[in-house]
Amino acid sequence: MIGGHLDSWQAGTGATDNASGSAVMMEVMRILKALNISTKRTIRIGLWSAEEQGLWGSRGYVKKTFADPADMKLLPEHEKLSAYYNIDNGTGKIRGIYLQGNEACRDIFKAWLTPFKDLGAGTVTINNTGGTDHQSFDGVGLPGFQFIQDPIEYDTRTHHSNMDVYDHLIEDDLKQMATIVASFVYHTAQRDAKLPRKPLPAARPAVRR
Ligand SMILES: [Zn+2]
Repeated sequence: MIGGHLDSWQAGTGATDNASGSAVMMEVMRILKALNISTKRTIRIGLWSAEEQGLWGSRGYVKKTFADPADMKLLPEHEKLSAYYNIDNGTGKIRGIYLQGNEACRDIFKAWLTPFKDLGAGTVTINNTGGTDHQSFDGVGLPGFQFIQDPIEYDTRTHHSNMDVYDHLIEDDLKQMATIVASFVYHTAQRDAKLPRKPLPAARPAVRR
């Protein structure tokens, strides 16, 4: 699965948060369709609502489809998902990927990034990144990832501000992102085994999601 969120703050039009991520993911689907390839696994896109209110769209989908973090009773789809990839950090190109603590994916992602070194992407870090929809998947033990992006002026200018408008998008960076995500999700869908998972988290009954 791939995804981003469609909602935005009202001061601007939400170009970098997160029309950019949504547009990149739609372009990924267009690329895969244009190539007319059939993959071993289904590739699904989710464009979430209410991310800005607390990831409600993706949390609702995960709860209905895979598991409720409050009881961690796994639904049948839980064992079928290989990975979820998210874009939600502005217009800057991909520099690498956060492992979200999943060390077993390091060598897999390193290999998948190798052809993109000349596009500036190569870093694989064990670090977590938070604040967006991959956390809904990670929260029920499914591999959910975000890419490391060039920050450009995301935190200093456009994020949740009246400057979050079309002029601040960098077309070539968006194309670079779509290219790399298309390759990642293609490899994921063609891989015989699912991506390795972290241990399942315990149920969190106090967390109302
Ligand atoms: Zn936001």
